[in-house]
Amino acid sequence: MTDAAEPDPETSVAARLLALQHIDTQADQLRVKRERLSEREQLAAQEKQMTAWEQRSAQVATRLDKLTSAIEQAEARNAELSSSRDRLEAQMKTVIAPREAEALMHEIETINVQRDELDDTELAALEEQSALDDERVAHLASEGALREALGQADEALKRRCADIDVELEQLGEERVVAAGDLDESIVRRYESVRSSAGVAVAELKGHRCEGCHLDLSAAEVDTAKDESVAAGYTDCPQCGRLLIV
Ligand SMILES: [Zn+2]
Repeated sequence: MTDAAEPDPETSVAARLLALQHIDTQADQLRVKRERLSEREQLAAQEKQMTAWEQRSAQVATRLDKLTSAIEQAEARNAELSSSRDRLEAQMKTVIAPREAEALMHEIETINVQRDELDDTELAALEEQSALDDERVAHLASEGALREALGQADEALKRRCADIDVELEQLGEERVVAAGDLDESIVRRYESVRSSAGVAVAELKGHRCEGCHLDLSAAEVDTAKDESVAAGYTDCPQCGRLLIV
């Protein structure tokens, strides 16, 4: 990086501006890299999986609760129907009139139909409950691996971010050295152009500003050269960047 033969030392205004530009560009790139780390996507994917896992857990738990109460209700209703039937069957033994017996038979038959329907409902609920219980066991067994993968993805992202932060911190220190004794007003101007144009410093190559890629007239080039000798840089008349001649 250093060029011992360079007559213009690294402490010239032009060299300092270019160094600032270089460091700030590197810092910008690092910040973009930090935002676009593939680890970020991997973590998001793991978080999505974990969320899906938790949602399914909640769904299964809710459904199992419903099934349990449906089974309990069916059993309670079944018990009621059984005692009603027992009562009717006991009545049957004391009835003599055929019409009364027929009516009781009909009631008993109705209860039997209701009981059959309840049995079918309860059986279906029991089957679903059993399948869901199996699913829950498998589901719970997958939790550990998912949480571990999530933790690892989180750690991986944090590590990469921490590495980049160290680089950014180093650049910050280099920036202080690079800025050195640059005049406060020049630094302010640099910051202001940087915030509007992105790249604040451009070199003049021939007649062309490397910032805006427009040519300066011969007179403008002469003025630029004169101003550069005095101040170390000049302003590009086209784009306003700090022009290094
Ligand atoms: Zn320009």
